[in-house]
Amino acid sequence: MDSSVVAEMMPFLTDFYGNPSSAYSFGSQVKDAIEVARAKVATLLGCAPNEIIFTSCGTESNNAAIQSALLIDPDRQHVVTSAVEHSAIIKHGEALARRGIEVTWLPVDSSGQIDLADLENAVREDTAIVSLMWANNETGVLFPIERAAEMVRAKGALFHTDAVQAVGKIPIRLADSKINFLSVSGHKLHCPKGVGVLYAHRKSRFNSFLIGGGQENGRRAGTENVPYIVALGKAAELAGAAMGMENVEVKALRDHFENTLLASLDGIEVNGDRENRLPNTSNVAISGVESEALLILLDQRGICCSGGSACTTGQLTPSHVLMAMGFSPERARSSVRFSFSRYNTRAEVDRALGIIIAAVQKLRTFKEAAIAA
Ligand code: PLP
Repeated sequence: MDSSVVAEMMPFLTDFYGNPSSAYSFGSQVKDAIEVARAKVATLLGCAPNEIIFTSCGTESNNAAIQSALLIDPDRQHVVTSAVEHSAIIKHGEALARRGIEVTWLPVDSSGQIDLADLENAVREDTAIVSLMWANNETGVLFPIERAAEMVRAKGALFHTDAVQAVGKIPIRLADSKINFLSVSGHKLHCPKGVGVLYAHRKSRFNSFLIGGGQENGRRAGTENVPYIVALGKAAELAGAAMGMENVEVKALRDHFENTLLASLDGIEVNGDRENRLPNTSNVAISGVESEALLILLDQRGICCSGGSACTTGQLTPSHVLMAMGFSPERARSSVRFSFSRYNTRAEVDRALGIIIAAVQKLRTFKEAAIAA
């Protein structure tokens, strides 16, 4: 968390604990702070403040957009999404399919990109909503979201984007776009975990699946998490100010990291389109190395990164994203994802590189010795 984000939210845990829905002035002070945060998030997204709905997380925002679209018209019960979405969309899509709702999963190519012609073909008269992520959380690959939204809206369906990874990293101007709904998560912006936003275009019909009090203009019932909303406002302000720098300096750190790895070790390949991706993400396949083993060695040396597989019920399942890109389970299992932020320094990256290169060499030597034995 950014220390100025913590400083901004602290008074709302101590002094200003009033309920924003209360009529007394102690509550209305707090309500004003929510509105300031709303305006700051709206500025980052290039939309109007009354299009911002505060939620508990990116997952809730994703679920809310899709559930709402399916409630609008009983004759539109088809959903289109991609094969590489975050589980907050994938598992939801699978659950909808089990309830009899038809879901079309768009494929991606080996660079992690969708084909807009596939999207054009997938949208039908009964399509309720298309949900496509703006930036992939494993590879950082960016989908052509504005063009996709135009295409989908021209065919009469609603368009949602899971922009959890993209917000604050790439410029977004929703006012000039055809996007109906967009999801944000606080903890990708140096804000606490457990707060998010659903952007809902002011003319788009939206039915909340949380039914109760009239908070958020009747669009999201439940007493507001004021400290975290205030924090998200500050984090959005900081992200907007830092975006230009991130796209130069954080990108330079990431590229230095990747280029040094490629030059120092054989058998390294970058997963995903190297040009068309977020500035902070690096996903590399390291042949001859099991990512789980590498992760343990790196964790011991204070380097936190993620593998290309997830442990589900005791089994290592290769990443659905890398598999959808057509890679083998072996390549997925030897892939590791590193993320960089504006708080990383060149010295940290160089230290990490030294540790990673030594760890890969060690694991490869063990493997060769085991094969020889
Ligand atoms: N969508 C994407 C692309 C993500 O990366 C994440 C979280 O990592 C989510 C959705 C879920 O967000 P949250 O953890 O706030 O529910």
